[in-house]
Order: sequence, then structure tokens, then C-alpha cells
Amino acid sequence: MDYHKISLEKIAHQVETPDGYIRLSGPLERDSIVNGDGLRAVLWTQGCPNHCPGCQNPETWDYCAGFLVPVDEVLEQLSHFKGQTGLTFCGGEPFVQAKACKTISDYVRKEFGWDVWSFSGFTYEIIKEYGKEPWEFLKSLDALIDGPFILKQRDLSLRFRGSKNQRLLKLEYNSGKILSIE
Ligand code: SF4
Repeated sequence: MDYHKISLEKIAHQVETPDGYIRLSGPLERDSIVNGDGLRAVLWTQGCPNHCPGCQNPETWDYCAGFLVPVDEVLEQLSHFKGQTGLTFCGGEPFVQAKACKTISDYVRKEFGWDVWSFSGFTYEIIKEYGKEPWEFLKSLDALIDGPFILKQRDLSLRFRGSKNQRLLKLEYNSGKILSIE
């Protein structure tokens, strides 16, 4: 099986939403200390094409489930989250809603001074090679936790990650350059 080709096909299958909307799998969270450094708001996206065996959130796979929410409403809710240091995109797979995620990422950085992290079942290399909106979203981040969850490599001792293949990549904002790998 050609995982590389399959991954490129999967990331091309973006969730279809009307302009200015995002599909979420649950309510926004605040004060999280388990989805990145500091005290973080968390946004749970709906829709994932990766279907990793052992995934803890299979209800987030369906591209048509969850809640369709105006991006403006998300920004309004986030503006009431005081004391946060950043925002983390979780899923589901944030990179199949890359356009809406980038809009939110840019806004919270500019308006609230937050840093922005995202999880992805795709690797950094696949996102970069595919380019387009997923790469633009990646360039708006400070950190990416990348790669699919692999049950055989599960390791509960890792910071912010579920399996050994996944990496915590610190990124240079606006260029996407990798600054460090954990
Ligand atoms: S990428 Fe994440 S949400 Fe998607 S199937 Fe894998 S573990 Fe689950």
C-alpha cells in the first residue's frame, strides 16, 4: 500500500463547509494543560479521513456530523476566554478544514497575542508537499504534533502524544521552518 499517495489523497479531501463556517465536534474548551504548553483554549474539529485503529475519538471521523458553526461565533466565544496563553486545534483532523482553521489561528494571534498549536494525523512532510491551504495553516502555527496514532507504538509517557511515531515540532511562525523536534 502506498501510504504517501494515500495521505496526499486524504488531505485533498477537505470538509465542505459554506464560506465562513467551521465544523466542530464539540464545544470550545478553556484552561487546558494537556494539549500544549501553558493554559490553553482548545478547538475540536469534526471530520477525519485517517481512521487510525485505536483512535479515542472515532465519533469525530464523519465529515457531516458535529456542528456547523460560523467562524465569527467561534472568535466571539474565544474573546471571552481570559487568561489563556494559546489555542490548540484538536480533532478530528484540523488540516481537512485548513482554511477556517487558519482564519481562527491568525485572529487569536493578532487580537489576543496567543500562540497556536495543532494536532494532525498527517505528517509535516505530507502537509508541506501537498501545499495549498493546509501548508498556509501550518505556517500560522508555533507547534505541530504530527503523524497518525499507531496502536502498536502507544506510549502514555510522551508529552502531548499518544504513540512514539508522533513528533512535537516547534515551528517558526510564518515560514513553517522546523525549529526543534521532540
Ligand atoms: S488522526 Fe487523530 S482523530 Fe483521526 S483517526 Fe487518527 S487519532 Fe483519530
